[in-house]
Amino acid sequence: MTYDDQNVFAKILRGEIPCNKVYEDDYALAFHDIAPQAPVHVLVIPKGPYVSTADFTEKASDAEVAGYFKAIGTVARQLGLDEPGYRLIANHGADAHQEVPHLHFHIFGGRKMKGMIPKSGQ
Ligand code: AMP
Repeated sequence: MTYDDQNVFAKILRGEIPCNKVYEDDYALAFHDIAPQAPVHVLVIPKGPYVSTADFTEKASDAEVAGYFKAIGTVARQLGLDEPGYRLIANHGADAHQEVPHLHFHIFGGRKMKGMIPKSGQ
């Protein structure tokens, strides 16, 4: 799994293109999705060069894994989503339609979510 450092999230991490930042620490950056699919739609990315959950869990240090997942929880809490609830999704690879090859968890909130996956399987 080769990391492409020209992907859009790598450029955001390097400050080459802007983002609407909501949170940053040593391990993670969170920003609003450019095409939101819910009233709250925030992406949380690790700072290291990892393509996907598979790549990250294989190669990242324990500190990076812990720091990243703690950041996801912190972001959701700071967005006020703990009580009403929220959904986390991370797409991996072609079958899941992963568009950007830098690991990201989507945080969706602000409304009641429908079924987990459409019955058509899409
Ligand atoms: P995925 O299909 O899981 O790879 O999702 C990629 C997400 O990145 C999509 O929801 C896009 O709307 C979002 N996205 C792409 N480019 C940007 C950008 N420059 N800033 C914020 N979100 C972006």
